[in-house]
Amino acid sequence: MLQIEDIIEIRKAEIYDRGYEIVFPNNKIIWLTKRRTIAGLLLLIKYEICSEEDLVGANGRLREIKNILKGKINDSWIQDRYGDANKPFSELWTEEGFSSIHAEGLQGNRKYVLYKKDHDTLFNPNAKAVRTQISNTDRIIVLNRQNGRCNFCGSILKSSKNMSAHTFAKDRVSMEFDHRIPVDRGGKSCIDNYQALCHYCNKCKRQMCFICKEGQCTSSCALVSPETSKIILATGEDISDRLK
Ligand SMILES: [Zn+2]
Ligand SMILES: [Zn+2]
Repeated sequence: MLQIEDIIEIRKAEIYDRGYEIVFPNNKIIWLTKRRTIAGLLLLIKYEICSEEDLVGANGRLREIKNILKGKINDSWIQDRYGDANKPFSELWTEEGFSSIHAEGLQGNRKYVLYKKDHDTLFNPNAKAVRTQISNTDRIIVLNRQNGRCNFCGSILKSSKNMSAHTFAKDRVSMEFDHRIPVDRGGKSCIDNYQALCHYCNKCKRQMCFICKEGQCTSSCALVSPETSKIILATGEDISDRLK
């Protein structure tokens, strides 16, 4: 079980190629790519069950964490309050790939949970990599099947080497390969379970899967199979106007 009192330092990434590293004794390192997820993760490690109230400065939790880590972290990396109050929590799942962190309850009264028994999973950097393992042959088959377009919105997809710093609306163009049924819900890394999405649509999908309460993913969810369904099971929303 981790305690933030034991943290040696939080630094700019040295071992990994970007982001931040939380260093625990014995050189055990938790890797984060986004600055605002630092606060979310520290809150969850300390308090186990958190809510958006913890991030808007409504209680003393953020201040408490800053005090404990004084001298071990650049003070500005933890804000006094966060305007976009669920992101430091929800991005631990959607951006950082920590599937042991989950949300319970509906918008407005949502709790974010990281059980102490799951602390060890935070040290696994593969959480980020698992989702991107697809062979080049499979990439080509999937892209051809979709005529090179995002399977949701229909944008023509480009790989990063075909984009520049000035590419317009990059997030709508940037090519990603998604597991239709997410890996942590039993989805396989096989050709039938892949679809190509733009970065934007893929991120929107992860946000929905994050709050999804359905026990099982099936092709009756538009996010798994936009070819056969226009309804998102998690919310019941019809998204036919946003599909190609
Ligand atoms: Zn898209
Ligand atoms: Zn699903």
